[in-house]
Amino acid sequence: SITPAERMQHLPSQFFAGLVKKANAQISLGHDVINLGQGNPDLPTPPHIVKKLQEEAANPLYHKYPPFSGFPFLKEAIAQRYKEDYNVDLDPETEVAILFGGKTGLVEINQILLNPGDVCLVPDPGYPDYWSGVALSGAEMKMMPLRESNAFLPDYTALSPSDLDRAKLMFINYPNNPTAAVAPASFYEDTVRLAEKHNIVVSSDFAYGAIGFDGKRPVSFLETPGAKEVGVEFYTLSKTYNMAGWRVGFALGNKEVIRLINLMQDHYYVSLFGGIQAAAAEALTAPQTCVAELVSTYEQRRNALFGALTGIGWEAPPSRGSFFTWLPVPKGHTSVSFADLLLQEAKVVVAPGVGFGAHGEGYVRLGLLAPEARLREAAERIGKLGLF
Ligand code: PLP
Repeated sequence: SITPAERMQHLPSQFFAGLVKKANAQISLGHDVINLGQGNPDLPTPPHIVKKLQEEAANPLYHKYPPFSGFPFLKEAIAQRYKEDYNVDLDPETEVAILFGGKTGLVEINQILLNPGDVCLVPDPGYPDYWSGVALSGAEMKMMPLRESNAFLPDYTALSPSDLDRAKLMFINYPNNPTAAVAPASFYEDTVRLAEKHNIVVSSDFAYGAIGFDGKRPVSFLETPGAKEVGVEFYTLSKTYNMAGWRVGFALGNKEVIRLINLMQDHYYVSLFGGIQAAAAEALTAPQTCVAELVSTYEQRRNALFGALTGIGWEAPPSRGSFFTWLPVPKGHTSVSFADLLLQEAKVVVAPGVGFGAHGEGYVRLGLLAPEARLREAAERIGKLGLF
């Protein structure tokens, strides 16, 4: 019989796999299901990026192993984008790592920094992949509650001195999944101060960095003075360019962390297929009109959904960034019972908040991941249940 390694016993199962199964069961019964549960962009990759891959797939240079840690042109392209968008200087060779999607880096950073007994500070609610990495490293996870009363930012003054003593790594994520909050520059300044004082490495997950509403561009952690000394930022093409299936992400910032991530990647992957690296560079260096269009699409969808939700009496502050909405469940329901009810009775899939941590209880997450008419229809179907 096969006995898994001990670390595998600590790896949680994927909460959202169960959600997909429930939704598919309804679809197979022939129901017209509106799926707003998963964080999977519904729009295609812009054609100029696809075309670049088609052209470059035939390039024999890319049929051999790529260079370890990737092609310099892609590292230069992301450094140039950060310079243009955030006025942040990054040395492509020492301050950039190319990843198989942001996910790999978010898991690996735990393995390269944490020993059993160390503490990792994690936002609650938060993106569940942070937990997986901590579990694999054998370290201990301490939750930082994100409360509506504090604009869904962690309250650093509430962290216990003993946790701060043992903490070696922390995750922050704005624009936030799942709460759709955006962080002000002052929050990042507080974060750098905390990290300096307690010798904690900051892992800033900027997966939704490009998606800010009402004309406000989200601030990058790396814009903060001192940020590169204490941490790294994870960036991904998945959301900005509708490239979730392409698996291209980056770690940016602190040289030692980047060195360790690259070392890990050398052993696991060598690097991404060169054709994909060429297309990723095209995404980053071509005129960014497709990004402006994408942000405007999500903003229009947000306006349509919140308009319709107000119409049915389901009130919440509108999302400020990301492509999510974070909504309170009606009295008498848990997030799971409410999500189940919406699936059964309205055929609308939403993600129960508790899947993102105990402090997500009392909320559900809806993605802005369907055309406006479908979002309005989802609200209409929910309204018919007469719960608000
Ligand atoms: N971080 C957050 C908060 C996310 O929501 C996601 C994807 O859903 C990721 C990271 C991972 O993105 P990827 O691995 O596609 O780059």
